[in-house]
Amino acid sequence: MSLTENLSRIKERIAAAAERAGRNPEQITLVAVSKTKSADMVRQALAAGQLEFGENYLQEAAAKIALLAGACRWHCIGHIQSNKARLAAEIFDVVETIDRLKIARALERHLGAMDKIMPVYIQVNIGREPQKAGVMPEDAAALAREVAACAHLRLSGLMAIPPHTLEAEKSRGYFRGLRELAAELSHTLRLGDNLGLSMGMSGDFETAIEEGATLVRVGTAIFGGR
Ligand SMILES: *Cc1c(COP(=O)(O)O)cnc(C)c1O
Repeated sequence: MSLTENLSRIKERIAAAAERAGRNPEQITLVAVSKTKSADMVRQALAAGQLEFGENYLQEAAAKIALLAGACRWHCIGHIQSNKARLAAEIFDVVETIDRLKIARALERHLGAMDKIMPVYIQVNIGREPQKAGVMPEDAAALAREVAACAHLRLSGLMAIPPHTLEAEKSRGYFRGLRELAAELSHTLRLGDNLGLSMGMSGDFETAIEEGATLVRVGTAIFGGR
């Protein structure tokens, strides 16, 4: 199938999952994860109407973003080292991987100097996996409070990557856990708006939508295997 067909198939599946959950499909943003894929493939997706893209690696992202400047919105979905915070602040439109105070402060400082406001998500290690990035669930409130106090960071929600599985149903409990954590934080931090939920990838985005995802990150099912 062509990239354009893949995209429209994914959008249909998003709409169907939203409908099953009694939700409005327009509440769900599809981020096309283009890591390892060429700028030309991103152009094809753009031509098919896709406007939000996700990248993991800073150098790779910088090169693609330079080629496609201004045409779309770029989400950082990979780990950020603090010495790369300035570059991340410069090139991305959304950062989904705030997982420690140090990176929040570094981004805030660089964004301040650029006079730029960045929507951000806090990455939560929802499966408590030692090798995975993300703040532990019990530490999310403290980090969220600090982020919410940063003038140039706009706290938009929580992001998580549940433990790898080939069965989407096994991710459901983690997705639900992230939703419950977001509800708790919205309440305790008295955030006016509900926090968004960035969760779900090629193998499990429908389950994530059933559990409340407002943003899904889909790579392989759009661009093919890596
Ligand atoms: C690579 C990646 C994705 C996309 O994964 P697919 O299984 O290819 O859809 C989503 N989120 C993150 C954080 C990723 O690193």
